[in-house]
Amino acid sequence: MSLTCRRDGPYGYVTLDSPPVNAIGQPMRAALLEAVHWAEAEGLDRVILSGAGRGFAAGADAREFDSPPAPPHLPDVLNRIEASPVPWIAAVHGAALGGGAELALACRFRIATPDAQIGFPEVVLGVVPGAGGTQRLPRLVGFDAALHMIPTGKPVAGTAARDIGLVDALDADPVEAAEMLNSEWLGMAVPVGTLNSGDATDAAFAAARDRAARKLRGQTAPGRAIDLLDIARGATLEAGMQAERETFLELRGTAEARALRHIFFAERGARQPAEIAPKVPPIRNAAVVGGGTMGTGIAYALSSAGIRVTLLETDDAAAARAQQSLERILAQSQAKGALTAKQAAQTRKGVQIGTDYGAAREADLAIEAVFEDMAVKTRVLAALQDALPANTVLATNTSYLDVDALAATLDDPTRVVGLHFFAPAYAMKLLEIVHGHASSGRALATGYTLARQLRKIPVLAGPCDGFIGNRILARYREAADTVLMDGATPWEIDEAMVDFGYPMGPYEAQDISGLDIAHATRRRQDATRDPNRRYIPIADRMIELGKLGRKTGAGWYRYPGGGGKVDDPIVADLAIEEAHFAGVTRRDFSPDEIRERLLTAMINEAADILYDGIAQSASDIDLVTVHGYGFPRWRGGLMHHADSLGATTLLERLHRLSHEDPLAWRPSPLIAACADRGIALADWRAG
Ligand code: NAD
Repeated sequence: MSLTCRRDGPYGYVTLDSPPVNAIGQPMRAALLEAVHWAEAEGLDRVILSGAGRGFAAGADAREFDSPPAPPHLPDVLNRIEASPVPWIAAVHGAALGGGAELALACRFRIATPDAQIGFPEVVLGVVPGAGGTQRLPRLVGFDAALHMIPTGKPVAGTAARDIGLVDALDADPVEAAEMLNSEWLGMAVPVGTLNSGDATDAAFAAARDRAARKLRGQTAPGRAIDLLDIARGATLEAGMQAERETFLELRGTAEARALRHIFFAERGARQPAEIAPKVPPIRNAAVVGGGTMGTGIAYALSSAGIRVTLLETDDAAAARAQQSLERILAQSQAKGALTAKQAAQTRKGVQIGTDYGAAREADLAIEAVFEDMAVKTRVLAALQDALPANTVLATNTSYLDVDALAATLDDPTRVVGLHFFAPAYAMKLLEIVHGHASSGRALATGYTLARQLRKIPVLAGPCDGFIGNRILARYREAADTVLMDGATPWEIDEAMVDFGYPMGPYEAQDISGLDIAHATRRRQDATRDPNRRYIPIADRMIELGKLGRKTGAGWYRYPGGGGKVDDPIVADLAIEEAHFAGVTRRDFSPDEIRERLLTAMINEAADILYDGIAQSASDIDLVTVHGYGFPRWRGGLMHHADSLGATTLLERLHRLSHEDPLAWRPSPLIAACADRGIALADWRAG
């Protein structure tokens, strides 16, 4: 069933009913059209349209975007609703998004709950509204509001929707409010499509294009949505809708839209796998050890989700620093409007900072976020083992260290799991859940439960140096350093990757996180590194010079006066000097060559990660690269991008590059197997 129709006196009640989100697929469109005929045949006074379950309608069914459009088409259905002599009233609760919002616009009257979410997120899926959104919205709310909503995809709450005129009234029970509407008044309501579209200044359009170029850089759909809004300034509704439909049908098949759909479905599919059987109840109490960058960020995230936190530091001075750091996060969140003063007070109250492990004895979960040092982490885990009940799950936020070795130091290694957060821990959506060989199902399930409570995207990763994300990152940096040594500058490399769609290049990013972390990792790996593997010492020279990144005022770039980055000729000279010592003849690298090397290196490493079973699927790697490492979302993630190139092309590249360095460019067996079998990396299965 996709909707129900019921008559009660002169009123018709049409209820969208297609769980979980009332997506508007072909059966729903057909049923809506039938409902129009039914209401007219019955001679109803009005139709009250609402959604069953959690919301009104969350949009078109994106799964249909890969097949030819099937009639009846939504624009035709909505035009029919708008033109019907029986007025339809949209009674909106929860989400009215995309096609759901367009459906509400086709109604004669709109009533919403104050917390409803109404918006046009189509650009987030690489398309534009396809059923009148770009033409009816500006007619109803004016161009300024429409230019803010459609090209960004950001929804508005019911209250804001009322303020801009998108809904006519607010009510906690919109169906009841629709019943109360005066019939005469309703009869006078004008269909949105017949309203005059008004006008907007060219400056408003220019500002919208500028916003889209900055916030959704590299994407086509936002600009095309603005073009359609521009058409709405002068064209008839019919002409505007014709242009909109053509644009929608053109865009839905593009690589960008396919990539965005892919990552959207990957996000929705990220949840506890069936093999990890136990369901763990929500976490109420947690301990966080270490009140540095990560520890305070994690404590803030947990407390914001209603989890009581005991944050443990080494001594009173460190505890006071942790308190200050928490205050900074609270102040920043308040300044951004993400938190009210009341919420800030509640979040602060939820975090008890101290040095006594005994204060954490009610914790269901303890997360250590102390220095990245095996000895320190081992001591902290031992102290947690002594102080907390035997069933408290112990998690480590280590970036690279061996989770199995850490677990092995405890009486019960099954209680240990890696929970790899990303900085800032309260904002970054990704949570790598690292399963050690001994990790119990309950320990892993606790990670998934926490991810759900924090609204994060969980990705399961196996134990290895760097797990999924940092292992790919290490190879990315190695490939970048090799190009740097062989002839490029950090700024050329950064620019090439920014042009690809990254928000910043690898060198600028490293200046933010600090060069010392990667340095410590390289020193740890000295003992096990293949002596035949080419080693690029430029980053080590940076450490000798005290260029650790932004925190020391200079890294790969200089930051005079703590301001923006400036190219540093000393760094370029350093690369020339090291190349000279190593007998390397430097040469120019084009941006395409730089991108080819850095991306191929990452893809090859990621293929090994999948082949080794460290990642469960190619789409998990896509989630990690997009949500933890700035890989452009509209390219669908690293592996989706790899499949757009194809395994055969990748294998040819690797063979060509391996003439230079057979160790660094050894093709992953997974890429070779996919090329051999003519399949996508996403379709590779072990065995
Ligand atoms: P940090 O240096 O900012 O903080 C570490 C904190 O741990 C310090 O406040 C220190 O006083 C405290 N500490 C040290 N020994 C302790 C002990 N015995 N008991 C209690 N507290 C102790 O480091 P960070 O950047 O927050 O990193 C912490 C961990 O998180 C590391 O394992 C790191 O690899 C990992 N990590 C960091 C990032 C990042 O971007 N910074 C991202 C993911 C994971």
